[in-house]
Amino acid sequence: MNMIFERKLALPAELKEMYPLTGSLGKIVEERDIEIKNILSGKSDKLLLIIGPCSADKEESVVDYVSRLVPVQEKVKDKLFIVPRVYTNKPRTTGEGYKGMLHQPDPNEKPDMFKGIVAIRELHMRVIQETGFSCADEMLYPENAEYLNDVLGYIAVGARSVEDQQHRLTASGLPVPVGMKNPSSGDISVMMNSITAAQHGHTFIYRGWETHSQGNPYAHAILRGYNNKHGQPMPNYHYEDLVRLCEDYTKKDLKNPAVIIDANHANSGKDPFQQKRIINEVISNCNYNSDIKKLVKGFMVESYIEDGNQSVDGGVYGKSITDACLGWPKTEQLIYEIADRL
Ligand code: PEP
Ligand code: MN
Repeated sequence: MNMIFERKLALPAELKEMYPLTGSLGKIVEERDIEIKNILSGKSDKLLLIIGPCSADKEESVVDYVSRLVPVQEKVKDKLFIVPRVYTNKPRTTGEGYKGMLHQPDPNEKPDMFKGIVAIRELHMRVIQETGFSCADEMLYPENAEYLNDVLGYIAVGARSVEDQQHRLTASGLPVPVGMKNPSSGDISVMMNSITAAQHGHTFIYRGWETHSQGNPYAHAILRGYNNKHGQPMPNYHYEDLVRLCEDYTKKDLKNPAVIIDANHANSGKDPFQQKRIINEVISNCNYNSDIKKLVKGFMVESYIEDGNQSVDGGVYGKSITDACLGWPKTEQLIYEIADRL
């Protein structure tokens, strides 16, 4: 191999032993898991709001941000169930740039994967402890899923990973709902095939073991927009897109049909201020068409303390160093507006 094997990292079981999810924290995760699954299965008619920064870049500002969601969640609890985005692994289109806290616990220092696996588990556990929220993260590397599988409430498979077999098979063995994003090309059949694969059990190799997964009945769709052949962002949250997705689900024999609308990324053309308009349009379409209303189980929003984004060494507290986000005052207002419209 043309690689340097630097040092052996702790196994997931060893890390969990060092940072165990003890009694009351485990109970929080368990109770929230039930609520999230009830929303996706239609037992609860609340909507999921998966909201937070594009990347969880710094522990202090992320905990500060998630703490601000606590009183807001209390006020909208009859309509919305908030799952903070605490995204510690970032896919990069060309492989260049900040790859998340897993790689760089301090974004201004060089990668340190040893510190990274500890930092991401500590962050997720601190958030549960201080705010009572279990969170969402992206499964960028299937072999790392076990470092966090017991602390997360929701897992996304990103647009660049959704066609990959190991992601699909690993998703089929995860204990929590997995949202499959449409791929960057926009091909909806890739996303639907991914959901099908994840909902079924498989035998495969995982971390050096022959394993059998059970199938994940809560694997579902996330629409995030796509790039056309000229590389331009194109939306896929409009009425016709959702009608077609209802038809696609009808043709397949899948459990718990569901879609989350990602209001940023290619849907907003990476303009975070469009997220409010996009969500409003989807809510109108839900109210116009009962099939759409049944299928749409929530929204994903990119939001942080400050509006916009900055370079990795920008230094502004609570301002995204990856995709541009909606700042806190606009976020708070948006959450209340969504709840009012439901
Ligand atoms: C993200 O959620 O920040 C992200 C990278 O999403 P996508 O996979 O849709 O590009
Ligand atoms: Mn993003």
